Amino acid sequence: MIVVMEEGAGEALVQQVIDRMVEMEFTVHRSTGLVHTVLGGVGPEERIDPQEFEVMEGVKEAHRIMSPYKLASRHFRPGGTVVKVREVEIGGEEMVLMAGPCSVESKEQIRRCAEVVAEAGGKVIRGGAFKPRSSPYSFQGLGEEGLQMMREAADAHGLLVISEVMDSSQIPLMMRYSDLLQVGARNMQNFNLLRELSKIRKPILLKRGIAATIEELLLSAEYVLSGGNYEVILCERGIRTFESYTRNTMDLSAIPVVHKLSHLPIVADPSHGTGRRDQVIPMARAAVAAGADGLLVEMHPDPDHARSDGAQSLRPEQLIELSRQLKMIAPAVGRKM
Ligand code: PEP
Ligand code: MN
Repeated sequence: MIVVMEEGAGEALVQQVIDRMVEMEFTVHRSTGLVHTVLGGVGPEERIDPQEFEVMEGVKEAHRIMSPYKLASRHFRPGGTVVKVREVEIGGEEMVLMAGPCSVESKEQIRRCAEVVAEAGGKVIRGGAFKPRSSPYSFQGLGEEGLQMMREAADAHGLLVISEVMDSSQIPLMMRYSDLLQVGARNMQNFNLLRELSKIRKPILLKRGIAATIEELLLSAEYVLSGGNYEVILCERGIRTFESYTRNTMDLSAIPVVHKLSHLPIVADPSHGTGRRDQVIPMARAAVAAGADGLLVEMHPDPDHARSDGAQSLRPEQLIELSRQLKMIAPAVGRKM
């Protein structure tokens, strides 16, 4: 149930509605917008007539949410969500560039990456310390040592850090070193992990699963939101189709669809989306033109010797060139970079 309060409805009136919702066994999530306070109630929606709220003082309108996800729905926050991490805003006017290697490999590698990301105007450095590899014999990541290296490199250039959390046991470590926690495609439906992440107070970047529908992606986001962590960023990273030329099929239509259905920001990962270095720049350009709130791009100082995903990693000079192009595309679609 969504209850939209009148413009300027005071705290006492809002509280009255919350109390009534709780009485009716709703769990209430509050969203304070610029103009209206919106109360999202998760509970016995079918049994209750929205009119019961509409007659209350200070209430502008009330309606049932038809979608299976409630808090992720656009109705909950019609103005959209801006996830703010220090000075960086994701989902605001600025299109945020996040880039870095697939895996943190060495001090020198990640130091060079940070230098290039900063030069390209990126705000966030990415890099995996715990890697979900298809083969157990592939490089699995440097763990805490890798996180330490990335934190140091990021701090030297005033960048934020994003890194993947694969298991709840890694959360304390990630809290210490990483500003944003990435949930990978393989874990999009690891509901236990999502529940644990709903209890922390750091933004979660949730990647779409390789065979997940947009509705399933939004339901996974709902797990995090419903536990009280409202800082969720979605990520389109390609889905598996019958096409085999590219590693995945980059579903760019997910960007406007998510913007329509949800208030959550969505970024695009054209690296995993295509799996091929020569396809990353065109798809990154297209994602920004489609309205992506940010890009997550793999870049490596020496991609031919990368320990993971070298084939899809941009060379440093390619990231700089991409950034130059994005600075022209972003304003054409009403964004800054
Ligand atoms: C990654 O970002 O390196 C990664 C493993 O991504 P995904 O979960 O999208 O495959
Ligand atoms: Mn990768």
